[in-house]
Amino acid sequence: MTSTTCIRNAACVVAWDTTNRRHAYLMGGDVAFTGDTLCFVGSHYDGAVDTEINGTNLMVMPGLIDLHSHPSTEPFYRGVREEHGVPAMYMSGLYERSVAFQPDAIARKAGKRVAFCEMLLSGVTSVADLSGIDEGWIDIAAQSGLRVFLAPSFASARWHLENGWALKYRWDETAGRRGLDAALALIAQAETHPSGRLAGIVSPAQVDTCSIDLLRDSFAAAKMHNVPLTVHCAQSVNEFLVMVDRHGKSPVQFARDIDILSPRTVLGHAMFIDEHSWVRWHTRTDLAILAATGTHVAHCPSPFGRYGHTLEDFGRYGRAGVNLGIGTDVAPHNVIEEMRLAAILARVAARDITTTSIGALFHAATAGGADALGRPDLGRLAVGAKADLVLVDLANRWMRPARDPLRSLIFTAADRAVRTVFVHGIKVSDQGRVLTMDHEAALAAVAEGQARMLRDAPSRDWAGRSAEQISPLSLPMLG
Ligand SMILES: [Zn+2]
Repeated sequence: MTSTTCIRNAACVVAWDTTNRRHAYLMGGDVAFTGDTLCFVGSHYDGAVDTEINGTNLMVMPGLIDLHSHPSTEPFYRGVREEHGVPAMYMSGLYERSVAFQPDAIARKAGKRVAFCEMLLSGVTSVADLSGIDEGWIDIAAQSGLRVFLAPSFASARWHLENGWALKYRWDETAGRRGLDAALALIAQAETHPSGRLAGIVSPAQVDTCSIDLLRDSFAAAKMHNVPLTVHCAQSVNEFLVMVDRHGKSPVQFARDIDILSPRTVLGHAMFIDEHSWVRWHTRTDLAILAATGTHVAHCPSPFGRYGHTLEDFGRYGRAGVNLGIGTDVAPHNVIEEMRLAAILARVAARDITTTSIGALFHAATAGGADALGRPDLGRLAVGAKADLVLVDLANRWMRPARDPLRSLIFTAADRAVRTVFVHGIKVSDQGRVLTMDHEAALAAVAEGQARMLRDAPSRDWAGRSAEQISPLSLPMLG
């Protein structure tokens, strides 16, 4: 017998307007769910209720979707990555960092737990987890209580550096093939997991590290298994130049020409498209290609903004007809803060306040991400949708006055006002505490794992430098 929970007389409900396919405020209303599915969103629920939650001073909103994250590695870069970049690689620190700083397998498990805890505490209910295959991944994902889209990443080549500017590749096509096979096996396990909360994404790692055959076969596999495909594409100037060197075209044009762009394709991050001011390529077709093929973009403003990069711009992509979702790609895994930064960077890039809005950003972080994942039952509060929802405390001092609750949440309060999170109808975090995992223990393990990672950096770095030389602390040591 499945029970029904009703959030009664919520001060504010972010309800889904089915006719106009957009979120709308309902000031005063009930939200009810039976088992894992919403059964009522409206003024007053008359049905039988097993558990009633007093909605006074609460906003009920759909859970957020983190469309692009790397939980196995990003938690280890706290204090390391924020100001690390390589000017001679067009500011990106990606290549130097991912070669020099590699958390080990034991650490990576704790990393996932920390990342998942950060998500649950900041209102994320679904996540695309792009990671290498580690033992126990399915179990950790299931235990987290999150809705996890496992995206086991594989590639035909690894990045490699011999100096501080040139990006090189070590190719191993067989490893890429093995990776695709292992990924498909794991995706099958996820899709049939008894929790009903796990799913899969085919994830060839990057357009520049996968052979054309591997990319094409990955796309065919995604189609055959009816799951999304995600790939990093147009994420750095170096990658853009490599693709021009190999193929004489932009990364997006390359992806279109090998037929991997489609409504099941999610590109992280499609930032350096042909018209971007940092590449100034001679064509102006990439945005139209993304829109015409129905390709989705996972936008992750923080990691790029820290280098000095941004999408040009979030509003323009939307007006061109491109569906955008929001990802983190970095620690903290805080989609609320990503929405704020995305709005600000879009306006700075466009030099125009009207280019985007909190309404558009919130759509991207919910329904946009759900559409990208092919899941119209997520990212919205509507009857029949999954009971993935967030209760926001309107009485929190950072929310007040809560004239416009989403603005208060996104511009000011962020996770401080996230009170309770439900995924699949189950309460997974409450009052700032994760109910499914031991956050403290995971944080301690991540600190130990980070120490090992930093210790081993000289053996991996192209110049044999220490972690302190690669990424100095923000202040000098006294004495
Ligand atoms: Zn990424």
